[in-house]
Amino acid sequence: MNKETIKCPFCFKESTHGVRICTGCHSTIEYGTVSAWFALMIGTILTVIAFFILYISQSFLLTVIIFFALAISTRLYIRKKFAHRAIFTHQH
Ligand SMILES: [Zn+2]
Repeated sequence: MNKETIKCPFCFKESTHGVRICTGCHSTIEYGTVSAWFALMIGTILTVIAFFILYISQSFLLTVIIFFALAISTRLYIRKKFAHRAIFTHQH
């Protein structure tokens, strides 16, 4: 189905996209994840937007609804955008 390959940064062995463990050095491979600071940054932006909406609309309920709608769509967008990004974690 997916013929894409990913290259391990530790042993430089190419693996088929989708495998969870590098066949060369047994590093674990994760897909569709973002770094902690990136997730934190998005969380901060969403919170700022939420406060802004609350300030404009003066409606707490509306703010909560928009905040969750934004959070869910952002999460889906990131998953889709980073689905091909593989993160290797080397294990000794
Ligand atoms: Zn490897």
